[in-house]
Amino acid sequence: MKIVLGAVLSVALIITGIYLWKTSRKNHRMAPSVSRILWAGFSMVFFYIFALMVEIEWLALLAYSAYYVSVAWLLFFLLYFSLEYTGNFLEDFVRKDFMMVLLVIDSLVLVWNFFSRKLFDIRWEQALGAESLYKPVLKELFYVHYTFMVLIAVIFLVGMICRFFKAPAFYRGKYLIIAIIFSGMMILNVRGFEDPIDFSIIGYVAEIICIYYCAFVYTPQRLLPKTLTEVTSNMSVGVLALDLEDRIIYNNRIVDGYLDIEKPLYDDNDTDLETWCREQARKKTGDWETEVTFWRGKEPVFFKIQMQRIMDNKRQLQGCYFIIQDRTEEIKELRKKQHLATHDRLTDLYIKEHFYEQAEKYIKSHPEEELYIICTDIKDFKMINDFFGSRVGDAVLQNYADKIREAEDKMIAYGRLGNDNFAVLMKKEDFKESYFDLNSKEAFAGSTFSEVSFQVIAYAGVYQIVERDLLVSVMCGRAKMALSTVKGDRTRKVAYYDNVLRDNILYEQELSKELEEAIAKEHLQMYLQPQTTADEKVIGAEALIRWNHPERGTLGPDVFIPIFERNGLITEVDKYMWEAACKQLRKWTDEGRREVYISVNISPKDFYFVDVYQTFVGLLDKYRIEPRQLKLEITESAVMRDFETQKELINKLRSLGFVVEMDDFGSAYSSLNMLKDIDVDVIKLDMGFLQQSVNSEKGKSILRMVVGLSKQLGIPVISEGVETREQLQFLQELGCEMFQGFYLGRPMDVQQFEIIYL
Ligand code: C2E
Ligand code: MG
Ligand code: MG
Repeated sequence: MKIVLGAVLSVALIITGIYLWKTSRKNHRMAPSVSRILWAGFSMVFFYIFALMVEIEWLALLAYSAYYVSVAWLLFFLLYFSLEYTGNFLEDFVRKDFMMVLLVIDSLVLVWNFFSRKLFDIRWEQALGAESLYKPVLKELFYVHYTFMVLIAVIFLVGMICRFFKAPAFYRGKYLIIAIIFSGMMILNVRGFEDPIDFSIIGYVAEIICIYYCAFVYTPQRLLPKTLTEVTSNMSVGVLALDLEDRIIYNNRIVDGYLDIEKPLYDDNDTDLETWCREQARKKTGDWETEVTFWRGKEPVFFKIQMQRIMDNKRQLQGCYFIIQDRTEEIKELRKKQHLATHDRLTDLYIKEHFYEQAEKYIKSHPEEELYIICTDIKDFKMINDFFGSRVGDAVLQNYADKIREAEDKMIAYGRLGNDNFAVLMKKEDFKESYFDLNSKEAFAGSTFSEVSFQVIAYAGVYQIVERDLLVSVMCGRAKMALSTVKGDRTRKVAYYDNVLRDNILYEQELSKELEEAIAKEHLQMYLQPQTTADEKVIGAEALIRWNHPERGTLGPDVFIPIFERNGLITEVDKYMWEAACKQLRKWTDEGRREVYISVNISPKDFYFVDVYQTFVGLLDKYRIEPRQLKLEITESAVMRDFETQKELINKLRSLGFVVEMDDFGSAYSSLNMLKDIDVDVIKLDMGFLQQSVNSEKGKSILRMVVGLSKQLGIPVISEGVETREQLQFLQELGCEMFQGFYLGRPMDVQQFEIIYL
């Protein structure tokens, strides 16, 4: 029987040892505290076994002393643990260090008992049937120790019970268990006071293990679902769980909002979110994720929805749950950013790069379709900006964008390439020239200038996509090439890129290449056309260029001037002509013919490429001629293009003594008003103006008015394109002072001019 008891207690000892070992491996704030309890418990059991088993009296006495000391420290450590574990108010009352001192004294007294036997003695006594063992015989002094122990135990118990009442609901259980086991153990202890064997030791071991569990293992059962509910309900995503019978077993607050019948959400098939989830749960077998758009009225709601199955431990399907993420704001923001990155701020059309991208995609994916790329340009847009201000310029662009947008359903892609250039991709069959037309009324709509009579024209170049592998930018280049052929045209607004046009462009390129050589080899020649007074006396000549091309024959300026005006080479031509005129004037001066001037043309482009003022000053210097021998013809359109700068330049040139003439007056948009703001020496009426005006009464009155006005302003008028005697007479009657035209003399080479007129 003693063996059985020894075995049972040994098992308790081993269990305590195991827990001691387990605790030593824990990295937990309570681990040192629990460890101390286990150590005390371990030595308690150990000494108790020893005391029961040993048959040598003094050893048994010593073991009992050690046993009582262990119990005392165990209780103290329990108390210590409870204070630490429960964060108890008792901490304020219980002085741990004072207690420790008492305990040390108590322990010393127990050790002293080995010599004095004043607290307890031991007796060899029959117990457990036939076997005998040493049993302690307690003396009165022992009860002082015992009272101290009870005091510690009671404080511990009170602490636990208080904690039980104060703890949050989920945690109460463990305090209660600790308290119950401890109480049971105390009862065992008190009841078995006189018994030969103290069974409360088993209670101690149970309490120790219980504490181990409460400290490290135990989590309240209801805490987990509560925590999960709490977490999910506060999540920023919707959570909805369905059981196998399609019932909603859980949904968080966010989903409450989605299922609100006041503001229902429907997908494109008119299915509400709840039904949609059910359908998916039935359809889908695995976990998956999707993006889906629902609608709350007309407002789209973008969801990212994830479905996960709920399996039990045996991998049996129990239900599923959906995680619903509302990405509306994110996607709206993203789309906004994308829109900003791909659209023009002003017109909200595609920017160039995006247009190219979209067009390319479409062209590649529709190899069978006949497609057009159309590029447009607004005539004199810079002038609109300068005249009316950039606000109005912007409004014109917006109006044009709106105009293009009107035919939106016919267009595949459209955008603004920059400035006043727009581009459209559309099917050939859908194309209509009128889509790209723009008149003044439309252009100025909504602005204070809507009544103004400024002529607005939009030109369009069309490229039919034949070579589909070309870059869209190149296709646009071709459309623009076509466009460039009608720019400035009064009758045609749309041009189509074709082989003829391409050949023309190639021809232009060749001519441009040949120009340098022509200048070097003096293939360019100055022709002179006389300018006369009313009595047909030659007072000067206009220098007009001819190109004696070795292969192409003599080329008139109409063939190459427009080309060189476009590509800027005109300046080379003009510099050549200015120099030729000056050289000629030098020669005449040397020959004593100082009175005949030469009038030279200055292209609008020249102002961009050379310092016109300095060039002429240089020429005067080089050929030692007088400025009044040179007449400078600046076209009306050049003046209008950059009014302030031109005005300043003209003043500078005039103050030096040059005669400045406004050429082709009446050919561009001319404001008579301008005449009062700009000081020119002569106005040269455009011949087109003359031809139109002579034929109609209305035209005649306009001409009369222009000449009258310029006379009033004191500006003499020269008329070009005089072809008949009648014209000459008519102009004379109007008050025109100088004339140029076939009637008076055709352009001719210098030699001929000298022979006839000088
Ligand atoms: P423009 O400056 O207005 O020169 C007058 C043009 O009218 C000349 O044409 C001349 O031959 C033509 N013409 C003169 N009288 C009559 C007439 O009675 N009837 C008709 N139908 N035409 C007449 P051209 O020589 O062919 O020059 C055309 C244009 O080329 C010039 O018009 C001028 O703008 C430009 N041009 C000519 N030479 C030069 C040059 O050296 N530099 C620049 N920048 N442009 C030039
Ligand atoms: Mg001229
Ligand atoms: Mg002219």
